[in-house]
Amino acid sequence: MSTAPPPESGLRHAADAKAPVPSTPRLPVRTALAVRAGRATAWLSRRTGRGAGGIIGGRVTLLLDPSALGRLTKGRHVVIVTGTNGKTTTTAMTALILRQLGAVATNSDGANMPDGLVAALCAAPRAPFAVLEVDEPYVPAVIDATDPDALILLNFSRDQLDRVGEVSHLDAKLRASLGRHSACTVIANADDPVVVSAAGDVNHMEWVSGDALWLHDSTTCPRCARVLRRSGRDWRCACGLHRPEPGWTVTDTDLQLGDGSSVPLVLQLPGRFNRFNAVTAIAAAGALGAEVNTAVTALAQMAPVGGRFSTMPFEGRELRFLLAKNPAGATENLVMLSATDTPVVVAVNGREADGRDLSWLWDVPFEELGGRTVIATGERCQDLSVRLSYAGIEHVTVPRPLDALRRAPLGTVDVFANYTAFRDLIAEVRDA
Ligand SMILES: [Zn+2]
Repeated sequence: MSTAPPPESGLRHAADAKAPVPSTPRLPVRTALAVRAGRATAWLSRRTGRGAGGIIGGRVTLLLDPSALGRLTKGRHVVIVTGTNGKTTTTAMTALILRQLGAVATNSDGANMPDGLVAALCAAPRAPFAVLEVDEPYVPAVIDATDPDALILLNFSRDQLDRVGEVSHLDAKLRASLGRHSACTVIANADDPVVVSAAGDVNHMEWVSGDALWLHDSTTCPRCARVLRRSGRDWRCACGLHRPEPGWTVTDTDLQLGDGSSVPLVLQLPGRFNRFNAVTAIAAAGALGAEVNTAVTALAQMAPVGGRFSTMPFEGRELRFLLAKNPAGATENLVMLSATDTPVVVAVNGREADGRDLSWLWDVPFEELGGRTVIATGERCQDLSVRLSYAGIEHVTVPRPLDALRRAPLGTVDVFANYTAFRDLIAEVRDA
């Protein structure tokens, strides 16, 4: 367990900043050929109508040169963003801030496995910065390949247990990988014990604190499984693992720095979790030379990413979309919703991409929806209906999502959906 850094650590970035590199070095012949073959494949894929082609192109490049990821990031300043919730938004935020300093290669499409990363890097070969969202299981290998300047660890929540296997397994691999890249600045969530355990003992550490509403995943210590002792935001375990002192704390109005100063933080994106995401992005960009004030100004202009929190008109209704793919995201969104009394349509699917196990529905405080018009929909609306009934929430169940929307009163309607339900519903409303 690392000891907490001095609280004023959040302010030293501008002075320490590394200057952006003017241009990336030439690629070795093998990599250059692999990139060219990948581009040709991507072009062919687009021409034959098989999709945007980026991922298949990246796959071909990696097949021809397995070290392409490392070669393509050589000479660039790299930020890696990972965690269960908020990767896409935080990646977009970090890229937005760094664009003030120079061009940025980034996988804004959310293709966060190595083929997607290679595709993003090939699409911006001369950009001096790369901001890469990386799926959790790939993070140790991607750190080894890219030797990043900064790594953002947002949170490690339950849907990961499902897919990645033991959290402790990732934890050990991540720590070993960070041990080999001691120049990397790690920006990590001080409120999440699993993150704190995984971050381990690194030289450059920036602890960030938001106001995590979701603590159920971390009632026990990730290292020794004892029950954690909590007091306010503080948590500690008898084995010694404890909440480090954050150098960056976000409140409902401000970003507070470790030296006691604060900067007003205004975002267009709603929700406390986005305020937390923003601060991790500011801290990461800071490690690469971006000033806090410039970063805050850039983020204030930022519009929602990938349809999350976006609104769409639908037959006399204004739909407000909220994505929730696991208890942490769902809880944050529900608390945000509880401030209003607009009708709400909840859509739940249980496909592979959603995780087939929907037991997490039982951890979401649907009780918050009391007193509102609630319509359950989606492929797993029956599971959802059972859960709502146990929460004492009066509701109707309408299996087809568009029909469910039509059952909602005219005016503003909140649509609260998990991953594939969210994606499909936006597409259906667009086509309707
Ligand atoms: Zn412990």
